[in-house]
Amino acid sequence: MIVIEGCAVATVDANGTEHADGHVVISGDRIVAVGAGPWTGTEDVTRVDGRGCLATPGLVNTHHHLYQWATRGYAQQEILFGWLKELYPVWARIDAGTVHAAAAAGLAQLALTGCTTSTDHHYVFPRGAGDLLAAEIDAAAAVGLRFHPCRGSMDLSEKDGGLPPDSVVEETDAALAATKEAIDRFHDPAPGAMVRIAVAPCSPFSVTPRLMREAADLARSEGVRLHTHLAETVEEERYCREVHGCTPVEYAERLGWLGEDVWLAHAVHLDAPAVARLAATGTGVAHCPSSNGRLGAGIAPVRDLLDARVPVGLGVDGAASQEAGELGAELRQALYLARLRGGPAALTARESLALGTIGGARCLGRDDELGSLEPGKLADVALWRLDGLGHAGIEDPVAALVFGPAAPLRRLLVGGRTVVRDGQLSTVDVETVAADLARVARGLR
Ligand SMILES: [Zn+2]
Repeated sequence: MIVIEGCAVATVDANGTEHADGHVVISGDRIVAVGAGPWTGTEDVTRVDGRGCLATPGLVNTHHHLYQWATRGYAQQEILFGWLKELYPVWARIDAGTVHAAAAAGLAQLALTGCTTSTDHHYVFPRGAGDLLAAEIDAAAAVGLRFHPCRGSMDLSEKDGGLPPDSVVEETDAALAATKEAIDRFHDPAPGAMVRIAVAPCSPFSVTPRLMREAADLARSEGVRLHTHLAETVEEERYCREVHGCTPVEYAERLGWLGEDVWLAHAVHLDAPAVARLAATGTGVAHCPSSNGRLGAGIAPVRDLLDARVPVGLGVDGAASQEAGELGAELRQALYLARLRGGPAALTARESLALGTIGGARCLGRDDELGSLEPGKLADVALWRLDGLGHAGIEDPVAALVFGPAAPLRRLLVGGRTVVRDGQLSTVDVETVAADLARVARGLR
């Protein structure tokens, strides 16, 4: 058993329960008690001194492309389509070694910024590149994060009216078969799972309607979730109107891609009927504020989505369009973007923390065991240091975390296991991970 005590606690439960001085008790991989004051149990426990810290649920990253850690810094002034056009040929050269090194780096960065569960949306499978999904799952196990790799795919190349070149797309049937195989090999439906697969064709301009439809059928017959990019840019909306005669959300609905088992990356360009359809169907949204800023894509209507009760989580998005890859920093980015759109009351610090925790857990269909500090839930806990230069003296610890600079971690626990201790990863050697990353990035250039 582990007892964290002496810290402020923001549980992010349904009542927003907080303790100015409280404790969190962990047994095995579960939380068994959360409360005010010191813990009064008599069992033999490992104590973690939380004085000067804030305990929150571990952050949940709902959108990423980990392989892009090896292709950061390209196409710095491009919109999405120009950025993709520059990067597709580089991505055509990735292999299992690239993906392993990039995933280890990206996941290490996530862990150091408070993330305990991450998705990855991998949709580039060049022929002969090796076992890319196994490579990233192996990296996630090494870093120690809970991992939801989304088996992506593209089957609509330039010659058929899509955006990507032939070199990075798959045949439709091959993509579906490989997705089924990924579920069979890696998906763990059991409570407390460390690996779950989702089905994730890439985007309207790189995937055929047939692949979208059959991927949805496959996911539903296998009982796994569905993820894709949608409504990210005005150019995508124009493409959908020209090619399909409707908005991206109408297109998704036509293909069976709205529902409680679906979460969509971005959802920036939504009209009021689109927000209403997401709400009515229970479709979730992965909000990626820094990436949207980097590509100048626009500001997602997060306030409208929350008012309509759409599940909204946060994502760092791929590191080629968001070179920092820090999930903790997205709490502040989300707050700023919402306020640039809707004024200073558009999103509170606590709402932002909820996006990064329970909101993300809802997107992944795991809000019954992730996303808040409550007895019975998995012991995925971030213990943030707020006693240093960046945060000391701010009375409200949640405001310190969200408005302040990136907070260092005293501990990060995933299923009760220590992944970060006093700002350092306990699981992998960061110098080695960075050196591997530099090597594969050079190789791709
Ligand atoms: Zn993305």
